Formats: sequence, structure tokens, C-alpha cells
Amino acid sequence: MRYWGYFAAKLGAAAAPLYGLLLLLGWFFPPKPKNAPPLWALQKITQSLLCNLALLVWFLLCAGAVYLIVRDQRRRCRVCLRRLRMPVGTGSWGRMLLLGRPRIEYICPYGHGTLKEEELQISGLANSEWTPHSDDLWEELCASSKAPGDEP
Ligand SMILES: [Zn+2]
Repeated sequence: MRYWGYFAAKLGAAAAPLYGLLLLLGWFFPPKPKNAPPLWALQKITQSLLCNLALLVWFLLCAGAVYLIVRDQRRRCRVCLRRLRMPVGTGSWGRMLLLGRPRIEYICPYGHGTLKEEELQISGLANSEWTPHSDDLWEELCASSKAPGDEP
């Protein structure tokens, strides 16, 4: 819940100045006069074209802001919202049957989880895989050294 709240907060923080910019652009659009002739917009074609160009730039700014926000959000820890660090390449195309496909793994610096992303995105953006870690780090470390029949 905290993860999506942070995402919504970032969208809101980006939307406020972009909406203000849109309101500012609205002042430059030529107002439609009362009893306007049918082709009144053609009389001010230069101003209309510049306004439409400014609107296009505004739209591109919005799309870029959403792209940056989503890209940043994908690389954040789902628990503490810190940026994931220490990218490690795993797998190999040459030894795919042994090691699996090439992936990049990011981990939370505080050990909350691991994010695995496919290195090669052939058919669009594949979903990344988030694996949460347990709170007890020693339990995971000791589990690999225990024999199946050992008592603690
Ligand atoms: Zn974390």
C-alpha cells in the first residue's frame, strides 16, 4: 500500500506544475468571438498553430514525466521505497540450459527483497519479478548449511 501511495504522490507532484503550465497555455489561445464567422480560426492561423505546437510540447512533457516516474518506481524496494542497488548479471545465453536466461538482479540495501529483470526484452516490456526476503537474514543463511535431518 505504501508503494502505490508513493507512486500516486509522485504522479500528483508532477501533475500540479504540468496542470499549471496547461492553464498558462490556455491564456495564449485566441478566444472565440461571439457571432464568429464559420472559418474564424483560419484568420488567426499562425497563432493557432503556435498554440497547438505548444500543446504538443506540453503533451510530450506529460508523457516524459509519466515515463520517468514509472521507470523510477519499478526500481524501488516494495517495502522501504529505497532505490534498489547492486545490479548483478545472472544467466548466460551460451549456457542457458544450465544457468537460465540472462537476467539482472537488483537488491534492496536493507535486505527486503530482490528484483529480477530480463536482460533482453524481445516482445515488449516483460514484468519484473519481485522476491521478498524474510526478516531474519540469518535464517536464510543457515538454511543452506543445514542438513535435512538436523535438529536446531
Ligand atoms: Zn527495502
